[in-house]
This record gives sequence, C-alpha cells and structure tokens, in this order.
Amino acid sequence: MLNPHDIGRRTFLRDGSLVLAATAITPSLLIKNPSFADDSAKAVRVGMVTDLHYADKSPAGSRHYRESIGKLETASEQFARDQPDFLVELGDFIDAADSVEVEQRYLKTINKEFAAITDDRHYVLGNHCVDTLTKEEFLAGVEKEDSYYSFDRQGIHFIVLDSCFRSDGESYGRRNFQWTDANVSAEELEWLRGDLKSNPKPTVVFAHQRLDVSNYHGVKNNAEVRKAFEESGNVLAVFQGHSHQNDLKDIGGIHYCTLAAMVEGSGPESNGYSLMDIHPDGTIQIKGFVRQASYQWT
Ligand SMILES: [Zn+2]
Repeated sequence: MLNPHDIGRRTFLRDGSLVLAATAITPSLLIKNPSFADDSAKAVRVGMVTDLHYADKSPAGSRHYRESIGKLETASEQFARDQPDFLVELGDFIDAADSVEVEQRYLKTINKEFAAITDDRHYVLGNHCVDTLTKEEFLAGVEKEDSYYSFDRQGIHFIVLDSCFRSDGESYGRRNFQWTDANVSAEELEWLRGDLKSNPKPTVVFAHQRLDVSNYHGVKNNAEVRKAFEESGNVLAVFQGHSHQNDLKDIGGIHYCTLAAMVEGSGPESNGYSLMDIHPDGTIQIKGFVRQASYQWT
C-alpha cells in the first residue's frame, strides 16, 4: 500500500496526473511533506565499473585491452542519462606496460575518459594498477592522495579499501609481489575498525580482491576484515572485482557482490557496468547493463 508520502512524491513528479491523484490527500499534507524539501530522503546513486585493464596491447585470451576505452564510452553515455552522484572503479583500471612511461600514458588515456563523466570519482587499487607503477605514481595519475579512506554521501557511509599489501606488510608496487598474496595491512585494519566504530550510518564498502572467498582470488586475512564489518553491524554490502565474473555471497548478513569485468570479451555485447541506488530505507538496487547482473536487496 502507498503511504501519503509516496502519493505526494508521485503526484509531484507526474504533473499530468497531479490533480486527480492529489485528491486522495489534503493540500496541507502535500505542503508539509518533508520529502519534498529534504534531500537526505533521496536515494544515493552510484555508477560502478571494474577491471577495465586498459592498455594499448593486442588481446590475450579473453581479455581485449584496447576495447575497454570504447566500452567505457558506452557506459559514460548511460551515466550521462542517469546522473549518478559519484562513480567508482573497483580496480585493475590499467594493465601492465613495458615501461613506467608507457604505463603512465595508458593511465592518462583511460582516466581522461573516466574523468569526463563526473568530478566525484573513486578508485580502488587493483593488483594490475601497481604492476608497473608504484602506488604513489598511480594515485598521482588519478589525482588522489590515499589508497584507503571513507566518505559520506546523503546519510550513507562509503569505504574504499586497499588490499594491495604483501603478507609482510609491504605495499605492492613495480612487480615486487605475487598477485595471490593479497592482504589488508595491520595499519589499515586498525584504521578500518576505528572508522566503523565512529560511524553510525549504513555503510557500503568497495574493494578489489575478494573478501568472501579463501581461494587464490581471496584476500588472505579477509576473515579479520569480515569480522570488523560484522561487529560494526552497519555494513550492508561489499562490492568487489578481481575474479571477472558475476558472483554473490551472503556472509553474516552482508552481501558480497562481485562485478563483471569490462575487459572480458570483444564487442559491445561483452560490456559490463552498473548503477546502484541506495534508498534511505536501506533498499539497494543494482541495475546491471549487458553482462552485469542486476540485484535488489531490501
Ligand atoms: Zn582484473
């Protein structure tokens, strides 16, 4: 059943049917309805892409590196229509190059396309982002300072995680790591616990390597990370990339959603990107395009 707020909002949006439908409620209720004036009652809309692996290189297996730029252009047209509040790429934005100079060119090329979509952008570090570059070089290339941090938008708390640390705590960079040795560092874990503790808002997390599996795609100490999420009681969902295929696991009441990689396959029929709406009541809708699956969680 519709509540008066819903009726008010619908009639407000559709002026053609305004007079008829509005007779269901009094004009004074319409005027006092706080949802008209209060922006925090609006859903937060997020554009998501992952694993572009952009590089000016010939395809290797199912990975079509050069095509990611055209696929991002298509996603960008959709985002221009649907106007997300911010964008996030979930890692492996670029693929390895033979030199730092060439890699920086790849990064500049793909980021120019990404940056044209909106000013509010977020980048999760993927192992391929720091194959040729150091973390500092990658972050400088996308005009960011931190590899992990949190921010709020319209009453929702968002966390960007960095799992590009070796077991010994050393940061990945310039081929100094095994890609299967992914970890959240002790310092980052301490920061995460504190950040979750000081925040009462519903929370959504962005990561690259997987926090829900213990195979070679999984973060080695992900049980500790999940424990921090579960203890906070505020984490609704975690979005991740890295294993390139759609997947969803529910652990401890939290959705762990793995998104489809943009680099996989040739042609527009193999693209994948999504829009997420997080409603004030905690409902999350993921509208997936092309190969990306859609979800709704209440
Ligand atoms: Zn990848």
